[in-house]
This record gives sequence, structure tokens and C-alpha cells, in this order.
Amino acid sequence: MPLLPMSRVILKNFFSRPATRLYPFVVRPAFAESRGRIAIDYPQCIHCGACARRCPANAILVGKEPKSWRIDAFACVTCGLCVKVCPKKCLRMDNERPKSADFADKDSRVESHVTPPAPEAGGPNGA
Ligand code: SF4
Ligand code: SF4
Repeated sequence: MPLLPMSRVILKNFFSRPATRLYPFVVRPAFAESRGRIAIDYPQCIHCGACARRCPANAILVGKEPKSWRIDAFACVTCGLCVKVCPKKCLRMDNERPKSADFADKDSRVESHVTPPAPEAGGPNGA
């Protein structure tokens, strides 16, 4: 006697690999070319501000005094313009995206770098 269609499906599913992953315990790696989070090699940054001026989402803030660079990953729309215009090539787009739960935490969605001010000339033994 032939199996009923439903029994066939149950048996097939029973012996085959699951069609879905047990997210968030099993996470599929991001595709190599996918757009993710903007990352900076901060020591190379010259604080020219080109990235901030070009950003359509106002996600980047560049400070002159003190020298600083910061990005709000929540505001970024991953267009990649900042990476393109950076004269020092110190910006890159990682393919990993932050987890959505991270966005509730301002400290994890805002990346901030500040260069400490240079010590003033003319200390106790200075000229
Ligand atoms: S990728 Fe686009 S939106 Fe994101 S920080 Fe760069 S310029 Fe702004
Ligand atoms: S464009 Fe590049 S060098 Fe200029 S401020 Fe942005 S990250 Fe720094």
C-alpha cells in the first residue's frame, strides 16, 4: 500500500538535514562582498573631514581640537562613500554587521577615537 503524501514528507524530513539553522546559536558567516560595518585604522587618519562631509547620513563626526573621529553605526547606511573618498585609505567596510541587539547599547553602536593633545612646550625644564 503506497504511503500517504504527508507520511512521505515526515519520513523525508526525519532522515534529511534541517532546512534552517538554530539561530542565534548557529550563525551563518557573512558573504565576503556584503556590506557591513565601517572600520578605521585610526593612527593613519589625518582628520581632513572628507568622510564626514561626504556621508549622506551624517554618521561620521571629525573633530579638529581635540583631534577625534567617531561614527554612529546605527546612522550609517553602508553606502561606502567615506571609504571611497578617504585620502589615506584608512577606512574600510567590514562584511560583519553588528547584532541588532547591540544597537540598544549606545557604547557598542558608537565608535569613538580621540587623539590626546600634545604636551605643551615649555615644561619645568622647557624652553
Ligand atoms: S558608509 Fe556611507 S553612510 Fe556609512 S559612514 Fe560611510 S558615508 Fe556615511
Ligand atoms: S577621510 Fe580618512 S583621513 Fe580624512 S578624516 Fe576621514 S578617515 Fe580621517
